[in-house]
Amino acid sequence: MDQSLPPFYYQARIMFRFSNSLVNATRGTGRMSVMRNARSAVQARQYSVPTKSAQSSNTALYLSLGGAAGLGLWYAMGGMNGDLRSKLSEVRADDGEFALNKDEFRSFKLKEIQPYNHDSSVYVFELPDNKKSGLTVCSCLVVRGAGDEPKDDNGKPVIRPYTPINPPDSRGELELLIKHYPQGKMTQYLKDLKVGDELKLKGPNPKFPYKANEFNEIGLIAGGAGVTPIWQLVQEISSNPEDKTKVTILYANKSKEDILLAEKWSQIEKDSRFKIVHFLDNAPSGWSGETGYISKEAVQKYLPSTDLGEKVKVFVCGPPGQMKAISGPKKSMTDQGPLVGALADAGYSAEQVYKF
Ligand SMILES: Cc1cc2nc3c(=O)[nH]c(=O)nc-3n(C[C@H](O)[C@H](O)[C@H](O)COP(=O)(O)OP(=O)(O)OC[C@H]3O[C@@H](n4cnc5c(N)ncnc54)[C@H](O)[C@@H]3O)c2cc1C
Repeated sequence: MDQSLPPFYYQARIMFRFSNSLVNATRGTGRMSVMRNARSAVQARQYSVPTKSAQSSNTALYLSLGGAAGLGLWYAMGGMNGDLRSKLSEVRADDGEFALNKDEFRSFKLKEIQPYNHDSSVYVFELPDNKKSGLTVCSCLVVRGAGDEPKDDNGKPVIRPYTPINPPDSRGELELLIKHYPQGKMTQYLKDLKVGDELKLKGPNPKFPYKANEFNEIGLIAGGAGVTPIWQLVQEISSNPEDKTKVTILYANKSKEDILLAEKWSQIEKDSRFKIVHFLDNAPSGWSGETGYISKEAVQKYLPSTDLGEKVKVFVCGPPGQMKAISGPKKSMTDQGPLVGALADAGYSAEQVYKF
């Protein structure tokens, strides 16, 4: 606590946060740096062949009443001076409403579309008033169309999760790196969007509450566009020099052209905490990474020892076929389902694995 500030400052801060959440809870509607440089969905892949090694509300009420009493007393004593007023406005700027809301879809304007490679693009959305998105590590958001939105076979709106690739504390912009699938309901809809169009976003949807140094070692397994939640975690660790976690990333793609965030991975490799191994189905000649799918043998070769117990965690995010072969699918958004596949065969326990 900053001793130069009166206790009422902190009460006011709590009061401000509480009133903010009240405003959020009662509001019906709302509004809404680019990564300049990022397989056919219907093509089924088999992921299990071995690798060819190439190689509460009451508490809030009491706090608010206490805060109100403190504020009243404080005003009776003369209110705030200029210094304190500017400190409070800093608090407002920092703690103010985030652009996204976890309970309601808000519309956001598409500011820029940057083609990334043959089937992926970065969609840059404007966050009004230079706000932060409100996402945390690890969390994602969900997307639905605005206006003439895509519907599923039962006539219900199509809603899909995506993970922004710019840091969660970025202001004013939110970047989604999205791979288009020829038969994809959402991604084909997104492909037709133009700059200036709107899309509805809702979040954050919390995934795993990452804490620096909670684990000694982390393994990250990604396939194709499943790399974005992995990237969110990598960004978080790499931006924190105090985080000593060792991270090994196994990233699988069809061909070299499909590797997303390639330029980021070559930067990350310069940091001794990170090791990245790329796997390609179709490797070009002279390829120095692995060829084939991520198998039990690859897991045993590269990922941290299962003997680390609760000090090791492996995170997995990939297309359905890869999830099935590596860890088994999630049962639902809240049920991770049993651990099967390459990770289970390599000796990992369900507690040591998190499926995005
Ligand atoms: C936590 C989380 C974060 C995600 N973040 C991103 C992200 O940042 N960027 C991104 O591009 N995607 C991301 N995804 C995937 C995304 O949510 C959609 O699944 C994807 O965009 C396809 O949606 P669609 O409606 O176009 O395809 P659908 O209509 O759902 O599917 C069309 C066809 O494609 C197949 N298919 C669906 N998804 C895949 C896939 N991933 N790989 C191969 N085949 C597939 C289906 O089996 C079907 O045959 C994320 C998924 C999760 C769970």
